[in-house]
Amino acid sequence: MISTASALPLETHPARLAAANWVRTAICILLLAAVVACLTLAFGRTGERIAVQLCVNVTAVVALGLFCGNTGIVSFGHGAFMALGAYLSGILTMPAGLQRTALPNLPDFLAAHELSVWLALPIVAIAGLCFAAVTGSAIARLAGASATIATLGLLIITHGIAVGAREITRGSQTFFGVPRVTDLTIALGAALVFIVIARLYRESRHGLFARAARDDPDAASALGISPRRTRFVSWCLSGALATVAGALYGHMLGAFSPASFYLSLVFAHVAMMIVGGMASVGGAVAGVMVVTLLQDTVRQFEGGAELLGFVFPEFFGLTTIALGLAILLVIWLRPQGLVGSFELGPGADAPFLRRIGRGTKPANDPEKVAETMLQARSLSKSFAGVRAVDDVSFDVPTGRITGLIGPNGAGKSTLVNLLTHQYDADAGKALINGTELTKVRREAVAGKGVSRSFQNLRLFRGLTGYENVLVGSLAAGRSRQLAAPVAIRELGDLDLGEVAGKTADALPYGARKRLEIARSLSQDPSILLLDEPAAGMNPAETDDLADRLVRTSEARGLGILLIDHDLKFVNRLSNWIVVMNRGEVIAQGLPEDIRTNPSVIEAYIGRGRTAAEAQFVPNKTTRVLTVGVDQ
Ligand code: ADP
Ligand code: MG
Repeated sequence: MISTASALPLETHPARLAAANWVRTAICILLLAAVVACLTLAFGRTGERIAVQLCVNVTAVVALGLFCGNTGIVSFGHGAFMALGAYLSGILTMPAGLQRTALPNLPDFLAAHELSVWLALPIVAIAGLCFAAVTGSAIARLAGASATIATLGLLIITHGIAVGAREITRGSQTFFGVPRVTDLTIALGAALVFIVIARLYRESRHGLFARAARDDPDAASALGISPRRTRFVSWCLSGALATVAGALYGHMLGAFSPASFYLSLVFAHVAMMIVGGMASVGGAVAGVMVVTLLQDTVRQFEGGAELLGFVFPEFFGLTTIALGLAILLVIWLRPQGLVGSFELGPGADAPFLRRIGRGTKPANDPEKVAETMLQARSLSKSFAGVRAVDDVSFDVPTGRITGLIGPNGAGKSTLVNLLTHQYDADAGKALINGTELTKVRREAVAGKGVSRSFQNLRLFRGLTGYENVLVGSLAAGRSRQLAAPVAIRELGDLDLGEVAGKTADALPYGARKRLEIARSLSQDPSILLLDEPAAGMNPAETDDLADRLVRTSEARGLGILLIDHDLKFVNRLSNWIVVMNRGEVIAQGLPEDIRTNPSVIEAYIGRGRTAAEAQFVPNKTTRVLTVGVDQ
């Protein structure tokens, strides 16, 4: 059913896409290595100390960005993970003698382990993962600003616990005796490993799903992706990494207190992430360097200074103010951060994608597709007293195009939302092969063979055209190896090869409309629901789309429910037409019967008019498909 990777010419293989991205990440890594080398060579011990701090900050900010960048939720809670890492690793590695003095009341299971840092770090990572899983099960339920506030709550609660648990943390007093083992080699090595993990995650199935759900949770769930699950997975991995970053930070400081992981640290890390740009891993690296430089420069003025004859008074808190201003400036002037989308996507025109062939093998073999029927049965939905859909029943079979027409506000889009369980029906049900779609989870509808497009474009804006379709293909449950060629085939079929390397946002309108259809088709659905696919297209684009839809339906045995205002367009393509008005089905039948149906004409242009006035007569010969129309 699915063509395999070997069927594709080598130059169209998406490995090249990833390779182009990695070159940009390598540039960021080299930049970090160069800065570290310069600092160490130019400033000796002081330079080395700053370089270690820089690298540890990179680990912390990359860990933070792994969650925030992929889910779009800013977290203030990562200080909690860092505190856990620092205290736990400190306790596990502390010399036993020192521990007896510093922490005389430490519970037995924590006491006198005296592990090497290499043994302690995996334990710390597992503890971080467990902590993340517990907190994530609550936080992942939220999105946007409420999720951010929940992370702030986590930070405050953890800080309170750290201050209160005196036997373990020495309360608000300094926790000392932690071996200072984070040297330049360890810090730089950890930064590089973190960068690679974050990059791999971002391109992975889970990373792509998380970014898709970040850009449009409804469109993602219509493809079968659970936005909550993507947030949970990102939170867990990010939390585990932040815990390790915290341990490295603790082993760099040697002595710390709960305040070391509280608001000022978290604020600095968030500033670094936002200034650099949270969508890319390179952004974390750039942000850390710029903000560290800013902090170190401004800090010199906090205690008062003289510059070019001006005497600056003492001004504590100046560094925090500078950080705040930096965030504001970046959000104002460059919302994507300094690095922006430099590292994302393969750049303007990925030449190899142009070679994508057209007319590749269809996904479904029409001979083999069993007759499937999507059925609406007495579906009803009201909004604040308005009956948007009122007792609607009709069928959408495979292998044919069923048109759904009706004036604005007739309830067509609401009906699609009911069929795909985007809305809960007040009454009635939607069925496919006996399964009640109105009862399964929203994310499970795609798995039942029903895919959809949206009336207003719902693409994953920050992803490339190729990635948009790949997400659909992966969400259909394919392995990466099988998903990529399917995505490439769909892009080719809808003539999107040349623009597949650009972000969805940057595409012309017609291409975006086609991209949404390619994304749906990549799931090999039995039934495709298209909500005004030709809206906003010019006549040439509309004709082209019409041809493609007919070809696809015939070649794959696909059933299409085609919704549009353009009556000629629907008339030309459909084997069967359902007409809605004010939430009700007012007529259904063959196109030629619908054209002359008085109640349909009345619904469109009023009483006493003719079919020609209603513009029902198509400008091209009505297409007659090979399948029968015996509904
Ligand atoms: P169509 O797609 O045929 O233009 P819709 O399904 O979008 O019609 O809308 C049908 C009716 O339901 C309209 O009166 C519209 O205002 C109302 N409606 C649709 N969605 C909502 C919503 N989310 N909240 C409130 N009213 C809605
Ligand atoms: Mg609509």
